[in-house]
Amino acid sequence: MDQNADAYDVIIAGAGPTGLMLAGELALAGVRCRVVERREHRTQESRALGLHGRTMEVLHMRGVADEVLERANPVPRVRVSLGQSLFDMGKLVSDFGQLTIIPQGQTEELLEKRAVNLGVTVERGVTVTDCRQEGRTVHVTLEKEGRVWEESAPWLIGCDGSRSQVRQSMGAEFTGATYPYTIIVADVRLGVPLDDQLLIRVGRAGLVVATDFGNGWYRMGVIDRDKPWSDDPVTLGEVDATLKKLFGRDMRPSEPLWTSRFHIQERQAEFYRKGRMIIAGDAAHVHSPLGGQGLNLGIQDAMNLGWKLAAVVKGRAGEDLLDSYAAERRPVSQGVIKVTDIATRIMTSDQLPARVARKAVVAVASRIPRTHLTAVGHLSGVFTRYPAMAAATGASALVGTRVPDLRIASPGRSAENLYEALRTGSFVLIDTGSGAPLLPGVPESDGSLVRLAGRISYAPGPWRTPEVILVRPDGYCAWAGTRARAVAELPAALLRWVRS
Ligand SMILES: Cc1cc2nc3c(=O)[nH]c(=O)nc-3n(C[C@H](O)[C@H](O)[C@H](O)COP(=O)(O)OP(=O)(O)OC[C@H]3O[C@@H](n4cnc5c(N)ncnc54)[C@H](O)[C@@H]3O)c2cc1C
Repeated sequence: MDQNADAYDVIIAGAGPTGLMLAGELALAGVRCRVVERREHRTQESRALGLHGRTMEVLHMRGVADEVLERANPVPRVRVSLGQSLFDMGKLVSDFGQLTIIPQGQTEELLEKRAVNLGVTVERGVTVTDCRQEGRTVHVTLEKEGRVWEESAPWLIGCDGSRSQVRQSMGAEFTGATYPYTIIVADVRLGVPLDDQLLIRVGRAGLVVATDFGNGWYRMGVIDRDKPWSDDPVTLGEVDATLKKLFGRDMRPSEPLWTSRFHIQERQAEFYRKGRMIIAGDAAHVHSPLGGQGLNLGIQDAMNLGWKLAAVVKGRAGEDLLDSYAAERRPVSQGVIKVTDIATRIMTSDQLPARVARKAVVAVASRIPRTHLTAVGHLSGVFTRYPAMAAATGASALVGTRVPDLRIASPGRSAENLYEALRTGSFVLIDTGSGAPLLPGVPESDGSLVRLAGRISYAPGPWRTPEVILVRPDGYCAWAGTRARAVAELPAALLRWVRS
């Protein structure tokens, strides 16, 4: 039986952070969207605790960052015990030069609230058990409490985590490997509070990442070299003994709120899209948790895919626009897999070359200002760029890079910030010159384009030079240059993405 045929443009499998962010993006653009989630309730586990700078920037572009900050514990610096090195996120040119600590369940709550307010239906306790595409329709088999039925929609997006059913039905291999050790995760109180809000302690006994997530609670993520692999349930006694070994003193952990032991994997889906079925987030890639990138990558995937899928559904772009999603996002997760793999190997090995390498790498990355900035820029996602965008246009070197929150002042109007202008999910055109409109055929009233005209009153570095900047709905630069060039090139630059 096919219920609700034609009721939705898109079905999303999975109400994790990726699925909920994507649902909000689609609904913002007026796409009818339904999320089905296997679990009856939202996760109460802290799981991913840290939102990086770029994630906070994109949440700010959609008006969610303030609510996150009300609940979060911002951590500007990460200390690594090797030579007492510090990584200072405050060096970033961003309003969010910090790691924003908030339990995953709360991030999901805020993303779900936004999606539901925009009209999304989230149904829990419903599992996607199979899917297949026929013509321009995807048929999705659903199961709830033993009842099985079929629904159809033009598009199905698998945000259903690392064991993704959608990925399996698409026939995409999840290639990679499982590391030879397990990680213990424990949310506990400590009898000996730490001086640092976020500390990575590495020693002969293993590695611990300790995160203060507020109100006296700490997340301890531990790799114990004496017990690299286990499937046993985690006990408080084990946490106590392991922390004693790693810190060299009794940390007196108590009141375990959540404990778990999990296997680290690094895998990437062979492809992200098959016709009208697409995957995002953990369904598309998983990697070592060192660096806390998982949830952050998922939110960025959703931000990249959302406006593109909306444009296709609304008939403003051809389906081939969706190829740019994998072309842009696959190399980013590939890079994260590579870097976190190297970091994990050198941080967890007890071999002499690795011990020497980790001291050297941490010293260079934390003490030399340039390498320090590169390290925090990449860790935070602020330096993420899409070379595929620039390659295709051959325009300014700024194309494909993240546009900072520029401030535009125009006579007679209060100053406007780019990220606030992006809240509608439209393209934004910044025009500092005067003369005829640069995109005369593109209506501003129907939300296709927001135009900011005036002088750029705040801009870091290279962003002071261009007279005209076209910003994509996900905050990346689509075109930048002089007004004279804009007259000739801008319509084609916009057409590359959407028809007006
Ligand atoms: C124990 C643990 C600790 C972690 N710690 C960190 C950390 O400190 N930092 C960090 O960045 N990342 C961490 N992660 C990873 C982070 O949680 C993930 O990267 C992030 O949740 C990915 O979001 P997602 O929405 O893509 O997938 P998920 O959060 O996995 O969400 C997928 C959703 O789909 C649902 N689902 C699955 N199958 C189906 C189906 N067939 N039908 C319907 N629904 C389905 C699931 O129930 C789930 O709600 C941790 C993960 C785990 C498991």
